[in-house]
Amino acid sequence: MSVTTTGGRHFLQIPGPTNVPDRVLRAMAAPTIDHRGPEFAALGLEVLQAVKPVFGTAQPVVIYPASGTGAWEAALTNTLSPGDRVLAFETGHFATLWQDMATRLGLHVEFVPGDWRHGADPQAARERLDADTAHEIKAVMVVHNETSTGVTSRVPEIRAALDAADHPALLLVDTISSLGSIDYRHDEWGVDVTVAGSQKGLMLPPGLSFNAISEKALQAAKTAGLPRSFWDWQPILAANERGFFPYTPATNLFYALREALIMLDEEGLPNVYARHARHAEATRAAVRGWGLEVLALDEREYSGSLTAILLPQGGADAVREVILREYDMSLGAGLGKLADKVFRIGHLGHFNDLTLAGTLAGVQMGLVRSGVTIDPDGIQAGLERLQRP
Ligand SMILES: *Cc1c(COP(=O)(O)O)cnc(C)c1O
Repeated sequence: MSVTTTGGRHFLQIPGPTNVPDRVLRAMAAPTIDHRGPEFAALGLEVLQAVKPVFGTAQPVVIYPASGTGAWEAALTNTLSPGDRVLAFETGHFATLWQDMATRLGLHVEFVPGDWRHGADPQAARERLDADTAHEIKAVMVVHNETSTGVTSRVPEIRAALDAADHPALLLVDTISSLGSIDYRHDEWGVDVTVAGSQKGLMLPPGLSFNAISEKALQAAKTAGLPRSFWDWQPILAANERGFFPYTPATNLFYALREALIMLDEEGLPNVYARHARHAEATRAAVRGWGLEVLALDEREYSGSLTAILLPQGGADAVREVILREYDMSLGAGLGKLADKVFRIGHLGHFNDLTLAGTLAGVQMGLVRSGVTIDPDGIQAGLERLQRP
């Protein structure tokens, strides 16, 4: 154990779970109430309404006491039937896991190959949809922000591909690591189901996940034949009308969610998105200052919530270990085929200029200490970006 770890706060700079603001922690520290009583009904109604602007929707948002993976399953089982074809894109580890789930649930997945350095390709989507004249593809699955790579997909362009092909497939989008960090518009972009989780941009502990649901998806649910019980929207939406849930909701996380939504509203969503974009820019400036490479290749697809840094020769896990041991900071590991080749800096959620300056300083010191060849003045480019608004 190093002396440097004995004081001060741990730096949790993985791209989720993220740091929980003290305000949110305090809001959670309240007595648990009767989830069938009038006090909970008022809280439920308030939160179910207040959560909508973050999704950019006026449609219903279902809240599950589950991690994001549960909301993935809910999006599929409520809208699709056994044997349905779905189109997905190999943008990285999370896209791969989601399509694995779809396969296990009995769907036929067409998985468009990718290099893990680009988002979902709108042109490839257009070609597949145009070719499907019989409209056998029932849904298109897109991960908005691929947390394993730091690459975002251009969801409006995928929507445009569906429209240009005049194709009726549903559009299902995972925003687990982008909601509340990167501009997102469920209604305006014509998304049918938006999947989200509590523990990333929403600044809550793990434990809640979400489906925002379009009118078209609600209609699809009436005939969708995949088995579902716990995840079934229908009884939840019925109970939600009076602020209740068919089974026990995560009561104290509702207090937390109410407080986090107030904080996002106080800052203003456009400011929240601009803050994330600026911190991402400063991070990329430092990475390039060190002489290292950002994994994302297309500047239109840079993630506002995290940056993956490529060490082509490997050794990323050893760097993370040194940084954890010497500077008490957790960074994201390379996942799947990027294991040991990248490390990821989360710069999302409860995060400000000095959190980033400290994070970049820790990364720079850790790289030097690990013997990675870098320009030891690299951080300066990141700090210069932070010196400007
Ligand atoms: C974190 C994450 C998931 C998985 O969510 P869990 O809450 O761990 O189940 C899925 N997709 C993306 C894009 C994520 O960032």
